[in-house]
Amino acid sequence: MNFAAKRQLPLTSVQLDRATVKRRDEKWLDEMKADPSARFLLVKNGNCLYRQGERYSLRHLTLKEADNAEIDSTEPLFLGLSASTPFFALTLPDDAQGEWFDTLGEFFDLRRSAPLLSPLDGELATLLKATHHWRENHVFCGRCGAVNVACEGGNILKCSDQECGRLHFPRTDAAVIVVVEWEGRCLLGRQRQWPERMFSCIAGFVDPAETIENTVRREVLEETGVPVGDVRYMTSQPWPFPASLMLGFRAKALSGDINIDPEEIEEARWFTRKEIKDLVISGDMALPGRISISRWLLNGWFNEGAEGELDEIEATT
Ligand SMILES: [Zn+2]
Repeated sequence: MNFAAKRQLPLTSVQLDRATVKRRDEKWLDEMKADPSARFLLVKNGNCLYRQGERYSLRHLTLKEADNAEIDSTEPLFLGLSASTPFFALTLPDDAQGEWFDTLGEFFDLRRSAPLLSPLDGELATLLKATHHWRENHVFCGRCGAVNVACEGGNILKCSDQECGRLHFPRTDAAVIVVVEWEGRCLLGRQRQWPERMFSCIAGFVDPAETIENTVRREVLEETGVPVGDVRYMTSQPWPFPASLMLGFRAKALSGDINIDPEEIEEARWFTRKEIKDLVISGDMALPGRISISRWLLNGWFNEGAEGELDEIEATT
């Protein structure tokens, strides 16, 4: 059976060597930074700098260009190597302004640019956004309150208090997302704050001391009242909005009865493929965006049926 959608899931490319061992050597990092091939990305307010007029291509600056724009490059975040090109990132203050803004490029939201980024730019932007968010929220040590300092090119933060000295590692919040099946139908829900008519897969965060299979069962039961039996892992996707790793599943319901928790979701329904097709064509149903694992999972389920390809059906509307 074809469980997977045909196209690659956005934000999942592996083009970058993060140089986990080499980056411990500060001298090597200095050499990489000074290398003429080194490229620097800019981030401000969580958004990366894109080429002017091209929101689907990151702006890769040389160190000279960054210096000419008077951007502080003393503590760059090392992202990794692509072939032999070292990539770094520089963080600008949220209120930074300058004439160079108009000449170097424009800051833009990854969520909107992701579907059309090259694999390398997609990986760079995802890593940068996730790491930037983590560092912005870990300025101080969570144990003693002293200021943290960056180590290993910025991938580790260390408490500056000598007695404490705790190391802080990048944090990722695991979340599950699932297509639940019942007699040829799939379970989709909608949250109150979503755009009108939009339905998506059931999702939720992993609790402490919980297997991810049990998270699937707990979340589906809590949100929709539907008991779930068999649970099968499909794939994962980094989701730096702000700090998640989405773990995608297919699951079998043990009953078709729905009893939603109105605190969690506004509505949940079983849909046949034919119903989804008709609703999408009539404009009465909006699907999750093509960037998302939710859409990838839904495509995988839908395209196993006889109603055609979901992306093509949506494209004709
Ligand atoms: Zn500390």
